[in-house]
Amino acid sequence: MSGFDELGLSKKLLSAVEEEGYTNPTPVQEQSIPPLLAGRDVLGVAQTGTGKTAAFALPVLQIMSRSRPQGKRMIRALVLSPTRELAAQINERFSAYGENLDLRHRVIFGGVSQKPQVRDLQRGLDILIATPGRLLDLINQRYIDISKVEFFVLDEADRMLDMGFIRDIEKVLKLLPNRRQNLLFSATMPASIAKLAGSFLKNAVMVDVSPKEVTVDRIAQKIMFIRKADKRRLLVNIIKDEKVRRGIVFTRTKHGANRLVKQLDQSGIDAAAIHGNKSQGARTKALKGFKDGDIPILVATDIASRGIDVDGITHVFNYDLPNEPESYVHRIGRTARAGKSGIAYGFCDDSESGFLVGIQKLIGMEIPVDETHQFHFAGAIPKPGQRPGTIKSLKGSNKPNRNQSNRQGNRNPRRNTSGNNRGQSNSSGNNRGQSNRSSRNNNSRRDHR
Ligand code: AMP
Repeated sequence: MSGFDELGLSKKLLSAVEEEGYTNPTPVQEQSIPPLLAGRDVLGVAQTGTGKTAAFALPVLQIMSRSRPQGKRMIRALVLSPTRELAAQINERFSAYGENLDLRHRVIFGGVSQKPQVRDLQRGLDILIATPGRLLDLINQRYIDISKVEFFVLDEADRMLDMGFIRDIEKVLKLLPNRRQNLLFSATMPASIAKLAGSFLKNAVMVDVSPKEVTVDRIAQKIMFIRKADKRRLLVNIIKDEKVRRGIVFTRTKHGANRLVKQLDQSGIDAAAIHGNKSQGARTKALKGFKDGDIPILVATDIASRGIDVDGITHVFNYDLPNEPESYVHRIGRTARAGKSGIAYGFCDDSESGFLVGIQKLIGMEIPVDETHQFHFAGAIPKPGQRPGTIKSLKGSNKPNRNQSNRQGNRNPRRNTSGNNRGQSNSSGNNRGQSNRSSRNNNSRRDHR
C-alpha cells in the first residue's frame, strides 16, 4: 500500500494527517484521493469507519486552499449528511485536516437554535456541512447561497433515501451551479442510489470498499442464547467481568434504551442513552461523556447510532438482535475501527432466533455460540431449517420522532409490516442487494428507534 505522500497531497495536509497519527491511507482514501485531486467525480461505496471522510475532505481542502476568491467568503463546498451526529463528526474531521489552512467551515443542523448558525453564515464560510432540513430552511430564509458551490458531497446517500430525504436532495441539486465536482458516498448501492448518482455525477470514478471486508473480519463475534428476562443480568456480568470501559449496547426501542440505562445504574454501571427522542443537547452530552471516557456504556437505538465514530470501542452488545440483518453489520462496525479489533456479543432470545438466521445469511457465516454463560437457554436456538425472521409488531412508544420520523412519516408513506422478503436468497449473492431490500421495508418500524 502506498503512503499518503504518494497521493499528491500538499505538505500542509500531509502534516495534518501525520498529526492524526495516520501512517497509511485506507483503501477508500488510496482510490479516491488521486482522481478527486485530478478533478473527477467519485462514487464511493464505503460506509462510515472506512476513512471515507478523509477521502473526500483532504482533496476538497487541498483544491480549495489553492486559491480563494477575493472578497467575502462564499460557500464553495457543501457536504450533506443524513444525521446530526455524522454531520458533527465530519465537521470535526474538517477541523483536524484543515487546521493549517485558511478555510472556514461550519456544521448546521436542526434541533438547535439557528441564531449562532446564521451569525457564522453571515461572517462568511468556505465549507458548509449540513443536514438537509436545516439547510433548506436557511436557504429559504436567504441566509445561505449555494450558487457558488464547487464541491458537492452527498454522504451516506443510502441512509438519506432511507430517511425520506430524496425530495430535499433534489431541491438542493436544483440550486447548485452546473459546473462543480461531485462526490457521492453510500454504504450500499441499490438501484435507487445508482439512479440518483446517475442524475448528477459526471463520468465518475467508482470506488468500491465492501462493508464486509471493513467490518466483520476483525471483529470477534459471539452469540449467547438466553431468556429475555435474563439479558440484563448477563449484560451486567459481562460488563463487570470484562471491565468494559467503552462499549455500546443496542436496544430495539427508545423506551428499552431508557429503561436499560436505569437498570444499569442500579447495578452500579454508568450509562447514557442516545436515541431520536432525546433532545440534541442530551444527545451531544451523552456522546461527549462517552467520547471523553466519563461514561463507559452508551445505550443506543439504530438510527441515533448510525455513523457514530468513537475510537477505542471494545465491546458492542446486541442486547436486542436487530430485525434488519444489515443493521447487525452496522452495529458491530462501531468497534474494530481504523484497524483495531473488538468483540460483538449478540443476545438471542426465543423471539429473535429468526433474526439470527437472517443475520447469518447476510454475513455468510455462522456466528460462534457461547454456551458457557450461566443463563444459556437452548430454547432460543434456531430450529433446523428455520426461516429468516419476520418483523413482529414491536412494543414501544408510537410517538413520532420529533426530528427524523416526522419527516419520514410525512414523506414516505409506504407501509410494509411483513418484512418477509428480508433474507430471501439473493441471486447475485451480493449482500448489498439484501441490504437494499430490507431498508425499503423499514418505514413502518422507524418510530420505535
Ligand atoms: P470515517 O470512515 O471517515 O468515519 O473514519 C473512521 C475513523 O478512521 C476516524 O476515526 C478517522 O480518524 C480514522 N482514520 C481515517 N483515515 C485513517 C487512516 N488512514 N489511518 C488510520 N485511521 C484513519
